[in-house]
Amino acid sequence: MAVFNLRAYDDHEQVVFCSDSESGLKAIIAIHSTALGPATGGCRMWEYNSDEGALIDALRLSRGMTYKNAMAGLNMGGGKSVIIGNPRTMKSEELFRAFGRFVDNLKGRYVTAEDVGITPADMAMVHKETNHVLGLEGKSGDPSPVTAYGVYMGMKAAVKHRLGRESLDGVKIAVQGLGHVGQYLCEHLSNEGAKLLVTDINKESIDTVVSKCGAIAIDKDEIYEQDVDVYAPCALGATLNDVTIPKIRAKVIAGAANNQLAEDRHGDELKKRGILYTPDYILNAGGIINVSFEEKYDRDAALRKVDEIYNTLEEVFATAEKQDKTTNVVADELARKRVAEAKKQ
Ligand code: NAD
Repeated sequence: MAVFNLRAYDDHEQVVFCSDSESGLKAIIAIHSTALGPATGGCRMWEYNSDEGALIDALRLSRGMTYKNAMAGLNMGGGKSVIIGNPRTMKSEELFRAFGRFVDNLKGRYVTAEDVGITPADMAMVHKETNHVLGLEGKSGDPSPVTAYGVYMGMKAAVKHRLGRESLDGVKIAVQGLGHVGQYLCEHLSNEGAKLLVTDINKESIDTVVSKCGAIAIDKDEIYEQDVDVYAPCALGATLNDVTIPKIRAKVIAGAANNQLAEDRHGDELKKRGILYTPDYILNAGGIINVSFEEKYDRDAALRKVDEIYNTLEEVFATAEKQDKTTNVVADELARKRVAEAKKQ
């Protein structure tokens, strides 16, 4: 495999292949950029089909963290790690401690946290070997309510820009995915008087939101074509694709899910149809902003920083309009600019 030539390699500073035969650990730590500070991003545990698949995932995710942290105005670079293996059957204290030693060897160039397949208890074992861990239990706590607050603020910026409405009162919003973030988001939206149409694959979650927020339940396959103002993807990635985009009737897309555009070109498709896409990594940065305050945790200070998502998005929307570009391209360009400026200093 020609690693340096991979498209996803994209100028990574360092990639560490970690292996520990005693515990069975196989992991990859990808450090995309430390220009703005220690490369910070979660650790994912996943049963990849191939080592190449694991590498590409780590590379893509770590570059994404550079952009997310840069646009959130944090002094943190971008990195991510993946542990290759089945999270249901392959976890052990030895494995996580071995991973922790690899993180520690990087002497703070990479700071890890929880991601898909990893629990707070797993991170506590990593922490036995290294202090370079964020999001530990008893510190900044569950990031989801703060992520949801950021999505709510960012959605307000998008609705104001596209629909000229200051408030979400009476705005019709389709929320897809009522998990940790989706449920908190629905509370913010209904408190402001939004009309909610919601869906999930879990009936209990739907029932909770229907009764708490007066939402209307929609079949999961019919969420795209709803006659709404906003579509909020809060479940999985890649829900904006060739099949779904022609069905979407909303004028604004703003949700918590990571990697909503199946491919960058889908940003062009949305623009052509007059649909305002709110770049996901700007909108869902509340969680990482929250952990960035962990050292001396101050919830109010974290929320004030999350409020800035509104202004950041106003800048992205205005620039996209002025330069006749898609919002996803403008967001990437602004993120790269901040990193390039930091490199010069
Ligand atoms: P979660 O797993 O708690 O919730 C996801 C929900 O989506 C679940 O209720 C699940 O049943 C539902 N779902 C799955 N497939 C679906 C489908 N086809 N149709 C409708 N619903 C479906 O996850 P979460 O923590 O709420 O995160 C939601 C999204 O936001 C994820 O993409 C996550 O990566 C992203 N995100 C979360 C945070 C955070 O702080 N939790 C931060 C940044 C980004």
